[in-house]
Amino acid sequence: MNAPHAPINAVPHLSRRGESLGTENAFVVLAQVNALARAGKDIVSFCIGQPDFPTPQNIQDAAIAAIRGGKHGYTPSAGIDELRAAAARDIGARRGIDVRPEDVVVGAGAKPFIAYTIASVTDYGVGDEVIYPVPGFPIYESQIVANGAVPVPIFLRESRDFAFDPAELEAKITPKTRLLILNSPQNPTGGILSSADLDAIAGILEQHPQIWVYADEIYSRLVYEGRFESLAARESMMARTIVCDGASKTWAMTGWRVGFAANRALAPALTRWITNTDSCASQISQWAALAAVEGPQDSVDEMHARFRERRDLIVRLLNQVPGVTCKSPGGAFYAWPNVTQACRRVGAADSEAFRKRLLDEAGVAVLADIHFGRRVPGDGQHVRFSYAASPQAIENGIDRLDAFVRRHTA
Ligand code: PMP
Repeated sequence: MNAPHAPINAVPHLSRRGESLGTENAFVVLAQVNALARAGKDIVSFCIGQPDFPTPQNIQDAAIAAIRGGKHGYTPSAGIDELRAAAARDIGARRGIDVRPEDVVVGAGAKPFIAYTIASVTDYGVGDEVIYPVPGFPIYESQIVANGAVPVPIFLRESRDFAFDPAELEAKITPKTRLLILNSPQNPTGGILSSADLDAIAGILEQHPQIWVYADEIYSRLVYEGRFESLAARESMMARTIVCDGASKTWAMTGWRVGFAANRALAPALTRWITNTDSCASQISQWAALAAVEGPQDSVDEMHARFRERRDLIVRLLNQVPGVTCKSPGGAFYAWPNVTQACRRVGAADSEAFRKRLLDEAGVAVLADIHFGRRVPGDGQHVRFSYAASPQAIENGIDRLDAFVRRHTA
């Protein structure tokens, strides 16, 4: 019998977890931008973090061959053997570490491994702590919270070129710390953990054997100064570091959904998570990713060169805008200018008010620092530009930003 007065089509409550699950605001802002564009507004968008290049031809061909060749059923949850072996070789060679095919798990993107790792190394509601970078990829915090662990932010500061201070890490570690999340090159700042920082982090973690490390290295092939380095290459860190990389950024394959996680001890648990969720990554995409890893890398080099030119262009132009200063990011495809003075000039209360007005009044879409966690105390206001956009779009967008700030400067 229905409860009295309950409407016949009433919907039961969502759980607290379901209600409070966080999101990635890039997708929210993107929906706004698309709505404005559909309404006929001319928008220059710097808000989405994906390469604007097509997936290279040899990779497309491999996917079509897989479809035509009947390779479209389920695969083992950890991925096809060929791809696990190729990814193990590639991940290992680029970091100078020894990775076996059995250590590698293929997922539907790199993103799912964030949740699977947190769920595999922390328990729900018992106070297990996870240290993660702020500003940072918002999914870290939302998955820490959704999995009932305690989020412990570690701040990335402009004065350290957006790497965190190892001394600050040491101060945040407690006996309840279970996991440290690292992301280098970093989203949203483009910052890189230097060799010295990685040595310092390893030195600290050696004193705390209960801590796992999730090394989100999805931008490993987009480093513009020096060589990419992984914490996993420190001998004492290899066994407890989950190295995560993927096809999305390196081969312009965001929608294909292929990512890799490598860790000997955790691979079986990660595989079970996939069995419980996706079953496996798309088989078609896995054969495409195999061609990506094993085929010619000229398109990767070409994209790298284009991103580097765009980085230099956007940083130069941003620094010419009154009230804007921008450090040159060492990797990824993001610029993270300080807009504290520009906010004052235009009378915006903060970076989010600035972002909204920039979109409404100048037709330039960016993300604000608050989309990447709480604002770093004492570090001012920042916005994120994804420079995965053509040089013309960069020139046009920064021109509009410049005109917007000058128009409102008293
Ligand atoms: N980690 C970081 C830091 C990212 O920026 C992204 C993508 N924006 C991902 C993981 C997820 O990548 P994928 O497409 O492989 O799921």
